[in-house]
Amino acid sequence: MFFWKKKKNEIQEQKRAVWGIKKNVLNLIFEVAKETHPNEFSAILKAEEGVINEIMLLPGTIQGDSHAILFLNNAPFDIKLRNVGIVHSHPSYSNKPSLADLQMFSHFGNTNIIVAYPYNENTWKCYDLNGNVVKLEVIDE
Ligand code: ZN
Repeated sequence: MFFWKKKKNEIQEQKRAVWGIKKNVLNLIFEVAKETHPNEFSAILKAEEGVINEIMLLPGTIQGDSHAILFLNNAPFDIKLRNVGIVHSHPSYSNKPSLADLQMFSHFGNTNIIVAYPYNENTWKCYDLNGNVVKLEVIDE
């Protein structure tokens, strides 16, 4: 039982193409979220060798208080981006994905970050395309 469980975890980890995020990128996300507050912002995550190292803000994705994420429908996605996903902010205290978020995740990627107010190390979470919580390592370099 134990060995079976361990093996299953290893397989799940192998499947996870994106496993980390650079600390400066995470800090940038907090900054942009704070600047955009009380509106939402969303951006595309980019990764190299499994580590998120860049966010790509899309013009027109900063929208009133409606769900900014929906405007990503117009984004020019290339196939590589499907390995990562999107980041968006919630001007509330909840970093749980909404139904609309889950629908977006399933289309756009396996690594999606939601950062909730007040936008710091304690208020962000990462989700896979099914809305399961994913642990991302923060790389400080
Ligand atoms: Zn959301």
